[in-house]
Amino acid sequence: MNIENIRPKVKNESDKYSWNLYKFLSRIIKKNKHIKDQLRIYWNHHSRWDGEHLPFSKDLSNGLQVVIDPYGGRSCGYFMNTVLLKGNCELFSLSSWRKEDFLDITDWFFDTYEQIGRCIFDLEHNGWMQGADERYTYVNNTRKCNWCGEWHHRKIKKITTIKRKELWIKE
Ligand SMILES: [Zn+2]
Repeated sequence: MNIENIRPKVKNESDKYSWNLYKFLSRIIKKNKHIKDQLRIYWNHHSRWDGEHLPFSKDLSNGLQVVIDPYGGRSCGYFMNTVLLKGNCELFSLSSWRKEDFLDITDWFFDTYEQIGRCIFDLEHNGWMQGADERYTYVNNTRKCNWCGEWHHRKIKKITTIKRKELWIKE
């Protein structure tokens, strides 16, 4: 993983890549060069909503279930979604977590992130992201995602809603 490959073009601005994630990772690596080889990314099977088992999903949905472990020993980590939002966040202890709840996705993560950028956190392309003005190129009724290269068609969907109304019927 070469950190410079995921550096946004303009300082302090996210584009295909997140500025916060870049800044966060480069700060960790700058402190200790060996950490680059130790740093692990995990999928956390333990749902942060309800504690249920969550199978790995390629749609990382804002990184809520993704943990960055800077030292690779599963002793402490950071939540990816907080890193993306704030850049700066608190290290928390992983020692009481169950080993079975961690799935190492480091290589997959960096390969995919380098390829498709922040679309890794919004595969459905439904979310709103900071600095996403340049995400799409629109051509008539289609658009191309400039980050992952996907094409989408515009479709108008009719949504019917059901209203409840109280009526009094003559007996
Ligand atoms: Zn995309």
